[in-house]
Formats: sequence, C-alpha cells, structure tokens
Amino acid sequence: MEYQGFITKGSVPFDPLELARETEKLCIKSSSRKYTNFYCTGVYGGISTGYLVGCCLRCVFCWVSFSRDFPDKYGKFFTPEEIFERLVSNARKAKVKKLRVSGGEPTLGKAHLLRLLDLVEDTNFFFVLETNGILLGKEPEYVRALKKYRNLYVRVSIKAGTPEGFERRTGGKGEFYELPYLAVETLKREDLYFRVAPMSDSRLMPKEERREMIRKLKEIGYKDYLEEETCDPYDTSVKRLRKAGFSIF
Ligand code: SF4
Repeated sequence: MEYQGFITKGSVPFDPLELARETEKLCIKSSSRKYTNFYCTGVYGGISTGYLVGCCLRCVFCWVSFSRDFPDKYGKFFTPEEIFERLVSNARKAKVKKLRVSGGEPTLGKAHLLRLLDLVEDTNFFFVLETNGILLGKEPEYVRALKKYRNLYVRVSIKAGTPEGFERRTGGKGEFYELPYLAVETLKREDLYFRVAPMSDSRLMPKEERREMIRKLKEIGYKDYLEEETCDPYDTSVKRLRKAGFSIF
C-alpha cells in the first residue's frame, strides 16, 4: 500500500487507525520517535516545543510541515529522555513553565509519550497534550493511563460534526468521525483536565455542521468553553487546501 500523503480532489478516504499504524512504522522505533526541531514559542503564554513527525489524519487546513505527509524523509529518532532534556533546557533558557510536543499527533507511539510524561511528572513543568482524539477515542485504556499525571492538560481538536465533513476535510473515512467524541466522553468520565478545540472556521465548517457538533458535544456531557479555531494562511495550509480543492484564501 502506498503511504498516504496530503489529500487531493480525487483521494480515496483512508482508515485513520491503519494510517496510525503505518505512520508508527516510519516514525517510531522502540520507545524513540522522530523529531525535526526544538524551540520556544509564545502560544499558551510561552511553551517549549518539540516538533515531532507523523499524524494519522490529513486535514486540508493543517499548518504543520510536510514531514506530516512524508515522514520517511524527515526527522531523527530521539528517546523520551533526550526529548525531555531538550524541552526542559529550552524552557529554562526562555523562562517558560509549559512543555509540549507538536507538529503531528503526539499519541502515536504510546510508550514514547507515556515515558516522556513520567519524566515531566517529577518536575514543576506543565505538559500540554494537543491531540486529534483518534487513538484516545479508540482506546479508553490510553485515556485512563493519562489519569495519573497531575500536571497534564489535554486539548482535543474536533475536526467535524458529521461523517461527510470529516471525510472531506481530514481525508479519513466518515465512519471514524466519532472517535474524537468518544475521546471527549472518556476524558470527561475519567475526570481529566481537558478542553475541546474545534476547527470550526465558517469557511470550512458549514453552520449546520457546527450546530450538530455542539449538539453532539452537549449530548456526551461537554458543556465547557469551546476553543474554536480559525484557519490561518500558512504556506503549508494554503498548499494543502488548494490540492484538496478548497479556495478560502
Ligand atoms: S491538523 Fe492536526 S490532526 Fe490534522 S493533520 Fe494536522 S497535525 Fe494531524
């Protein structure tokens, strides 16, 4: 099977769980994972970031580098200990208290992420886990494994309110669109500290679909604030949108 890169107008929808497994084969070796960069940025009031490789969706609005689409061509493998050292060292230099790994889906490579969180747990740093909720929705045990970390904040990015919207904007088969909602349901039931951050930009998500998304979230008991996102014209986002046949810029 050819590895799924960015989606185009004629792309056939894929199984995101299968893509997660294929991506892990390319980006994960034992408990090590591929990364391309380390830096601090101003988001979340200042955060030290490890830029990892690999995701199990192909969102048309995605801003991350093309390492997402061609993970075999980018990055070097790092152990959780090496990542921890780099994150903390950059955080200390920049005097920030938050850490994250971004640039793809951090829940791929479970052993890598959990070991990294173990290391962070022994510090006063705070870890922000930004996730698309696909693997957390599939595996409630994964959510339960996160429960023991007291300095963790999970931010679930919901991409769609309908199967059609999911398929059109992430490239994944519509039948998988509920997985992020299942992740939200389990996070809520297990009482983790989390928020929902939907990509509900009206140029991408129709009003009726946004209403349906909010209805679904309420139905599963999520009534907190929604950190709604808008699509910015990053070079990578613009290229991906055009390839997939969207013209919003
Ligand atoms: S927006 Fe997030 S979930 Fe979607 S493809 Fe990019 S990194 Fe993956």
